[in-house]
Amino acid sequence: MEDNNILKFDNLGVWKSEEMVLDNFNMAIAGSESLLLISSTNKGVLSSILSLDIDDDLKMDGKMEYRGKELLKNIKNIKRYSDKDKNLMKVSETLKEIFVIQRESYKIMDKTLTLGEQIIDFIPYNARVRMLNAVLRREMISSKDVELLISNYEKYPDKEDYVRFWSTEYGVVNKTNDIYHILQGNENKTDKLKELLIFQKTGIDLPNIVELRDFYKYVTGLNTNTENKKSQEEYDKLMKEKKRFAFFKLALKLNRKGIEDILTRELKRYMLEYLKFMGFSNDESILNVYPSTDSEILIKHLFLAILIFSDAKLLVFECSKNIEKFLGSVNLLRKTYGFGVICISEDAYVLKTIPGLFDYVKVIYSGKTVEDAPVDQFTKEQLHPYSKSLMSGKKNITGSYSEGCVYYKNCRYSMAICKNNTPDMINFNEKRNVACFIYGNKNF
Ligand code: SF4
Repeated sequence: MEDNNILKFDNLGVWKSEEMVLDNFNMAIAGSESLLLISSTNKGVLSSILSLDIDDDLKMDGKMEYRGKELLKNIKNIKRYSDKDKNLMKVSETLKEIFVIQRESYKIMDKTLTLGEQIIDFIPYNARVRMLNAVLRREMISSKDVELLISNYEKYPDKEDYVRFWSTEYGVVNKTNDIYHILQGNENKTDKLKELLIFQKTGIDLPNIVELRDFYKYVTGLNTNTENKKSQEEYDKLMKEKKRFAFFKLALKLNRKGIEDILTRELKRYMLEYLKFMGFSNDESILNVYPSTDSEILIKHLFLAILIFSDAKLLVFECSKNIEKFLGSVNLLRKTYGFGVICISEDAYVLKTIPGLFDYVKVIYSGKTVEDAPVDQFTKEQLHPYSKSLMSGKKNITGSYSEGCVYYKNCRYSMAICKNNTPDMINFNEKRNVACFIYGNKNF
């Protein structure tokens, strides 16, 4: 994998209530890569570590780094903010480039409010800044922007993706198809685009948008690097901004709904367009439902739309039943926006459901990594007996952490050596590793 890793684990060991649940876990992922973690047990432990929603009874050692910065030491600080509904927001703000979609997202929402009424509360401040910047671009669009759109369109290999990206950045996501069709044509592109885009301006009060955008920027600054000592310059800037926004903060407290109304309207428009793109209805009534298991897939898609506006480069989520549609949407958006993915699953069915979504697969059995490989090699041939069993669709057999090979009791290829000796992870080829005595061992 690339060197430019967002998240990296070095020999991470995890104990839950004194019992080892993850041993010698190594993983590194860059923002453009996509990894499937298959874990027969402790899937929940892995997702809670990756979402930094870590239970008090979990003890860890080894290294866990975010952009080269050690996290284990700061985990308590992060956890302080991680109580249920606040977790998503705080993880997004603390680890800006990691966006977590919870397994049961509906549980972190207010059951007395519809999705439309509360979705704004789940938008990280950096995403709000980008969203309002898009509104400002739309309101101030110029001939130069149109000319740039046309010339860049000619250069981009995937033109549909480029237009979707551009219309998102210019707050005209509802006109993506129209823009694309004009660009595909040969006549009067510039005039047609100007005419279309000029009518998207709503004439809203720009100074108010700028004030709201700058306030969110200020809050984003407060929430980042809280553990680092600020330089005098940074501190002075912060104090100046604090003064500037003191009144605005009070006004927001008294009339949050009114002040954030522009953002809420823009957000709904944007959400509905993305829902349409992901195969849902774009009728506003779709957001008039309450959070429940029935709306779980819809909620996951809403979070996926939020991810696009966040600075996130890595999406983390856990596989659950009936998640195919969501996986399809992840695949679709990943192509346009190029974010990385870590998906935690208890089986390998997703490899067959959405071919091409994952680059790498890592198989964990009873807390031990038994195989990792590029997906194309893995789907052709699995090395570890447990991986073979997974891919043949056999029922997920679990074991417990013990001496010898963790898979010994269930392995049809087991040998005498496997009973009391643990196979090391060895290189099978340049990109594949496996822990099984069939392929040799460092010590034997
Ligand atoms: S080390 Fe032995 S028991 Fe373990 S998977 Fe390989 S053959 Fe089976």
